[in-house]
Amino acid sequence: MALYYCDKCGHLWQYHGGKQDDICDICKNRLRPVPDEYFENPDFKVLLSKDMEQKLIRDLVLTSPNFDQYYFDNKDDIQLQQWEEYRAMMEHGRAVLEGRDIGNQYGVSCPYCHATNVKRISVASKALHTAVFGIFSMGRNSKQWHCNHCNSDF
Ligand SMILES: [Zn+2]
Ligand SMILES: [Zn+2]
Repeated sequence: MALYYCDKCGHLWQYHGGKQDDICDICKNRLRPVPDEYFENPDFKVLLSKDMEQKLIRDLVLTSPNFDQYYFDNKDDIQLQQWEEYRAMMEHGRAVLEGRDIGNQYGVSCPYCHATNVKRISVASKALHTAVFGIFSMGRNSKQWHCNHCNSDF
């Protein structure tokens, strides 16, 4: 095992050797091995102390030409979102296998979670929505579908 860092988003990855490549899942940057001098125990190159992690970020990430402030600030959210998407995908696959996915006659699936149990937003509810929220909901009214799985409109 070895520890890699991403000099674009600042994430640390444990590399087990089984992964296909050494690309950061969060920002698709190429990972780099953490240099030896950052490990307090050179025989255990898996974990960094918090101090050394901060030092590595300061020395090698923030100064890197690949550094990306957006990914750096949002990497936890991005990872969470990717995990949610992955979970939804797995859930959908399992639902199909188990025959639980009822699908729909429109051939539409949710762009956010890929569920197919969506329903058409009725004209009546759109009209009501317009009456209640007026002009501020104009954008929302262009949406035709509602996902029963993640409650998104699209
Ligand atoms: Zn990254
Ligand atoms: Zn959805």
